[in-house]
Amino acid sequence: MKANMFYAGVIAVFLSLAACSGTVHQIKPTDVQKNKPAAQTSPAVKTVSSLSHKGLYTVANPDSTLVLVNKYFKLPDNYVPKQLVSVNVPFITGEKSELTEMRPVAAKALEIMFAAAKKDGVQLAGVSAYRSYKSQTTLFNTYVREDGEKKALTYSARPGTSEHETGLAVDVSGINGQYAATPAFATTAEAAWLAAHAAEYGFIIRYPKGKESVTGYEYEAWHLRYVGPAAAKEITEKGLALEEYLGKVSVTH
Ligand SMILES: [Zn+2]
Repeated sequence: MKANMFYAGVIAVFLSLAACSGTVHQIKPTDVQKNKPAAQTSPAVKTVSSLSHKGLYTVANPDSTLVLVNKYFKLPDNYVPKQLVSVNVPFITGEKSELTEMRPVAAKALEIMFAAAKKDGVQLAGVSAYRSYKSQTTLFNTYVREDGEKKALTYSARPGTSEHETGLAVDVSGINGQYAATPAFATTAEAAWLAAHAAEYGFIIRYPKGKESVTGYEYEAWHLRYVGPAAAKEITEKGLALEEYLGKVSVTH
């Protein structure tokens, strides 16, 4: 993560959140594939439509609130959510852009959640929400030119594989932006509130602590993903990663 650029404005925020994650844990495609077909057939399993030459599955349910997007399951090329709306919550950039947009169902849930947090004395802010396939492509290609693909993949996501492209993911910080999208955010009162209450509003902490080998990402206390209240409740109560909930990896360990 290029954290040094973080506070330099909208573009810097955009760049620093290229992957929305730090170091990549090594999980191999076979870790996912060997469990196919999953014992419990999930919507995501049914909708895998193709496998590209890079070993990436393209999901056929990109509009589902349960769509799985990770290092091995990608959105269709040039996917754009059917509808995106500006989220009416404070963002640390202070400016409206695609980064302050989400799909309506997620935007509304986020607004309600932020209001509830405020009532509890916890003031939240958005850091970065939607990111287009086009923007991710430009960004990723820039990093590949600078550092080569192998290194770029350790801090940036291949186009189509960033969950932010779904319009269902958002990075959240405290209102002052301190520790935004950094591991230290996990120590804050805001992170504690989110961990305790996000599921009530349909969000999960998408990259939980201890699930790095399942999600492929380090713990990110700030990256929320909308999956709907029922799924969020079950995922959170059972301590699952989304991959496990969808039956994409073994849950026997
Ligand atoms: Zn994120």
